[in-house]
Amino acid sequence: MESDFLKRANVGVQGLMPYQPGKPVDELERELGISNIIKLASNENPLGLSEEAQKAVAKVVTEGSRYPDGGGVKLKEKLAARLAVKTSQITLGNGSNDLLDLLARVFANSETEVIYSQYSFAVYALATQAVGAKAVVVPAKEWGHDLTAMADAVTSKTSLIFLANPNNPTGTWFAKADLQAFMDKVPASVVVVLDEAYIEYSTEADFPDGVALLNQYPNLVVTRTFSKAYGLASMRVGYSLSNSTIADLLNRIRQPFNVNSFALAAAEAVLDDADYLTRSLEVNNSGLAQLKAGLVEQGYDVIPSAGNFVTFSLGQDAMSIYQKLLHEGVIVRPVANYQMPQHLRVSVGLKEENARFLLALEKVIEL
Ligand SMILES: *Cc1c(COP(=O)(O)O)cnc(C)c1O
Repeated sequence: MESDFLKRANVGVQGLMPYQPGKPVDELERELGISNIIKLASNENPLGLSEEAQKAVAKVVTEGSRYPDGGGVKLKEKLAARLAVKTSQITLGNGSNDLLDLLARVFANSETEVIYSQYSFAVYALATQAVGAKAVVVPAKEWGHDLTAMADAVTSKTSLIFLANPNNPTGTWFAKADLQAFMDKVPASVVVVLDEAYIEYSTEADFPDGVALLNQYPNLVVTRTFSKAYGLASMRVGYSLSNSTIADLLNRIRQPFNVNSFALAAAEAVLDDADYLTRSLEVNNSGLAQLKAGLVEQGYDVIPSAGNFVTFSLGQDAMSIYQKLLHEGVIVRPVANYQMPQHLRVSVGLKEENARFLLALEKVIEL
């Protein structure tokens, strides 16, 4: 009987809802028969793949029949030099998503509690539930993390805490002093994962750098990614920085070849492509300002964002507006799955793309 094996599926997995990705461009093209679609739905880098990364991938393409370097030695050496950490503190992942999942598998189980914030990145809930741990979701404060309440939520069962700075889907962030006060309150036996997927974009002076706190807090793990500011979302490469003991635990359960040769080559190349990162940040700074100004001008309540996207309230159900924008060839992200049914999240695109989104929004609202 089908139900017999269903009952044997791990309890956490039985109740799991899969991650909802942004709608792909070619799917929308097929559905609506329209072209010239812009996708501002998945916080991808609007500059496209760095040319240096393209060349590096082309160079190693003939090695596709070989296993990659399972240790990712060259990339780790580059990162270690750049971040002033030891290579033994770095764990590479198939995107930083891989690391979030591995961290839950190492530190959480049906006997433990995992704390994360309301409106924080969906993967924390997925990773927690998949291992059967109890999720402790702390109410947000002005859409952002309430670090005081999160520290107060720690019990003797807490094994893991996920923080996102800035957070997705809200773009909210917390300051260095607040993070430090939080780390001082959390017992050293609780592992704190600080997800810095968007840190390269931050411009605020008091924005914390998790890496600078690693020596002070052995229970801190910082995760970062090449998917956003470095523009390698499809390659799947991210990493965590931690003390070597935690890195060793992660290394035991990761897949031996979790990062492929093309991703390794692309990541090494884009790290050396300083011009790409500079342009990424320029395009983001001006695009973020453009989107914020345009949305405020149209009268929307915009959540202040330190990432490469803005989330704003339409003051009405967002799903129909999302659908109408699709018909204009503009893909943004509804966030009803985050219990934010009136908000849309829009990723910063190129100047023309941002302008097209703003025009399309104005148009569909009047329809
Ligand atoms: C995009 C994102 C990630 C990174 O995803 P990858 O698996 O590295 O592509 C991690 N955390 C947050 C909050 C994100 O928005």
